[in-house]
Amino acid sequence: MTSRLRVCILGSTGSVGVSTLDVIARHPDRFEVFAITAMSRVDALAEQCRTWRPRYAALPDAARAAELRALLRRDGVPTDVLDGAGALAELAAHPDVDAVMASIVGAAGLAPTLAAARAGKRVLLANKEALVVGGSLFMQAVRDGGATLLPIDSEHSAIFQCLPEDRGAWARRIDHIVLTASGGPFRTRDPATFSSITPEQAIAHPNWVMGRKISVDSATMMNKALEVIEGRWLFDLAPEQVRVVIHPQSTIHSMVVCRDHSVLAQLGTPDMRVPIAYGLSFPERIESGASRLDFATLGSLTFEPPDHARYPGLALAWETLRGPDGSTTVLNAANEEAVAAFLAGTIRFDQIHSVNERTLERVALRPGAADTIDALLDLDATARRHAQSHVKDLEP
Ligand code: NAD
Ligand code: MG
Repeated sequence: MTSRLRVCILGSTGSVGVSTLDVIARHPDRFEVFAITAMSRVDALAEQCRTWRPRYAALPDAARAAELRALLRRDGVPTDVLDGAGALAELAAHPDVDAVMASIVGAAGLAPTLAAARAGKRVLLANKEALVVGGSLFMQAVRDGGATLLPIDSEHSAIFQCLPEDRGAWARRIDHIVLTASGGPFRTRDPATFSSITPEQAIAHPNWVMGRKISVDSATMMNKALEVIEGRWLFDLAPEQVRVVIHPQSTIHSMVVCRDHSVLAQLGTPDMRVPIAYGLSFPERIESGASRLDFATLGSLTFEPPDHARYPGLALAWETLRGPDGSTTVLNAANEEAVAAFLAGTIRFDQIHSVNERTLERVALRPGAADTIDALLDLDATARRHAQSHVKDLEP
């Protein structure tokens, strides 16, 4: 028997984390759950430890980690529990880890994902915010560390699946890429009523079941903006080589338009287990658990251009990519704060965009602002302070 791939899952209790465990459960001969981490759901993490008996589990917060240790001791589970700010990065770079699933939500995923890249792991990147914040620094770490970066975001996995294994051939082949977007839950809702959208309405995505933050981002289409930035870095493209089309059925997951104008697309049911399985097994293909696409009942696939008045945040992707270094970091930080404020009931849905725009206007970007991880984290913190103060100004 060949040795099993030892996997560290950052954010194992989340939507992508749980789907990753579901795929792994189908292939006990191929994968070993080596380490799992979470932020707050101690009970869920304890249950995963009982089922998977990983060598390590980690929580950033010491008190929660102590709670987990007590639960595991009581149940005789031999998992070692780590805590503290550096624990996640330590596990991601652990010498016995082969692959890291980066499925933390938000900029909090940057440090451990960067550690995995520097340590030369197979990095399965779901955490798009890490790349939006880290940009060229992150891609440089992948190269320096000799890591294998595999996209898990369904659109970028689709593009990756349409490209040859030889990355050196990509630039010669790609004219541009087209990311598909469902348009979210408010594609046909009258924009005049956007101010009364509730968090419950915003997180009810028509095609995908996901965490709360990405669901709100899908409703504003900031998710697609982040994905445009992600696509620019993953495939080393100019901003104008990344385009977006609305495709409400979410059947085509994205497309590559080649130099000769031939278009390659990847299709499937909307199920994250497909890109996750591909990331885990690349370059092979394994059972994912996703249902098959049924062409007999599929009906029509439709496309429409994005309406920028309905989704004003989308254009910020190209604006920030063309702006000074650090612009995408500021956009991401503002958006995380704005979405948190909307979910907390502090600001309205239509105010998310105002917070993002005003933060971008106010944060000054000096040369070098994106050159090191410390500079990026500083910039992230500064942008969050600005965004929070705009949120305060908007409070009723
Ligand atoms: P989620 O909210 O369901 O899960 C997030 C996970 O990260 C949880 O395990 C949580 O404990 C952990 N976490 C949150 N904050 C943390 C922090 N500060 N430090 C450490 N851990 C923390 O999110 P999700 O929907 O699974 O999304 C995860 C990432 O994958 C996001 O970046 C998202 O954009 C991306 N993604 C998700 C989907 C999807 O279908 N859910 C699809 C494509 C991309
Ligand atoms: Mg996506």
